[in-house]
Amino acid sequence: MKTLEVKVGPVRIGGTAPIVPQTMLNTHTSDIEASLEQAVQVARAGAQLIRITVPSLKDVECLAEIHRRFRALGYDVPLVADVHFSSEIAIAAAKVVEKVRINPGNFHPDHEKARERFAQFLEVCKEHGTAIRIGLNHGSLGRYIIERYGNTPKAMALAAMEWVRMCMDASFYQVVVSLKASNTVVMIQAYRELAALMQETGVVFPLHVGVTEAGNGDTGRIKSCVAISTLLSEGIGNTVRVSLTEDPVNEVPVAQYLAHRYSGAPAPEGLSEREKVILKAACDYGKKLIDREIDEVSFPDLPYGDYLADELMQACRRRFYKPEYIACPGCGRTMYNLQEAFEAVKARTSDMKDVVIAVMGCIVNGPGEMADADYGYVGEGAGMVSLYRKKEPVLRHIPEDEAVDRLVELIRKDREH
Ligand code: SF4
Repeated sequence: MKTLEVKVGPVRIGGTAPIVPQTMLNTHTSDIEASLEQAVQVARAGAQLIRITVPSLKDVECLAEIHRRFRALGYDVPLVADVHFSSEIAIAAAKVVEKVRINPGNFHPDHEKARERFAQFLEVCKEHGTAIRIGLNHGSLGRYIIERYGNTPKAMALAAMEWVRMCMDASFYQVVVSLKASNTVVMIQAYRELAALMQETGVVFPLHVGVTEAGNGDTGRIKSCVAISTLLSEGIGNTVRVSLTEDPVNEVPVAQYLAHRYSGAPAPEGLSEREKVILKAACDYGKKLIDREIDEVSFPDLPYGDYLADELMQACRRRFYKPEYIACPGCGRTMYNLQEAFEAVKARTSDMKDVVIAVMGCIVNGPGEMADADYGYVGEGAGMVSLYRKKEPVLRHIPEDEAVDRLVELIRKDREH
């Protein structure tokens, strides 16, 4: 799909540029040393854009310092501020880094005020040559959108189009758009709808594609690859993030694999043979399973063939052989050991089929982002966890060392009834 080209520092997204692999740091932005160190690691691994969370105005100062020192070390990889809710923070960050990711609908609960703030933000971006990403996620669409359009892939696309049109009206074209979801079918449908809507207007902005809260290990990789490759094979997608609940360095070769396969970008180095087989299978069969062109897959020559087939069927939401896990990758808002907690939850719940369990890094965005989870384990900070049934917090302030037991108890009790 032909798109406009967006320039983010030295990086080009869309137009004739190859697909850009990117990642996001999971350090605290206020910990400048740790953030800088991780930025260097992911840049060396091949990330071409690096996103950093900016939860407060104070963090904008840290972001500026990270940016300054990163450049002084000789790295020109653009930094992207990840901002939620506050147009004030977004405006401050736009003066500091090359790109800012926002969900404009969350700038204010009153939709007209959100529009006003977005217009102000665009003015600042224009003045400073800052690119933006309009990033809407399923699960955090906001009441205005859900009341107006429902909570569907089409609603996500229509919601994004409102902000896209505002950019066009302001003659601001440094725009990338994303519509992520943890449900692969919803995510694919949302991007297809958005691509069609933008094509109707005649102005097509580049798309950042990714699956949110994909989890970790083989499951996270397969889930991401089936959905992202489906879109890339249709020419939808110009930059890719593979979100994993792991060290962000691990995200880069998977994103590079996709960028290489679908646009000839440099191939990743250091993928194991097993990883290559898994990623290839996800890309070869994902679209066919999702679009129901085939109903089964099998790998009789592989010692782990049955497992791979089960994982693929579940990633494509054709058959569920284990619980569906949703886990955010963690970021500077995470105040506990998310990766450990996620492993503990998986180990204790692996026998519970037909249940969706979310493990989320923060109480600010976690509950909204866990979309259609049946149960949620959400870090509150200060060693405490909240447990959710659907969107309702049912147990709050549970000490971390008891929280997995209490979650398992909660699910088992519900299943007895
Ligand atoms: S839900 Fe996870 S990734 Fe999203 S802001 Fe919170 S900690 Fe960060």
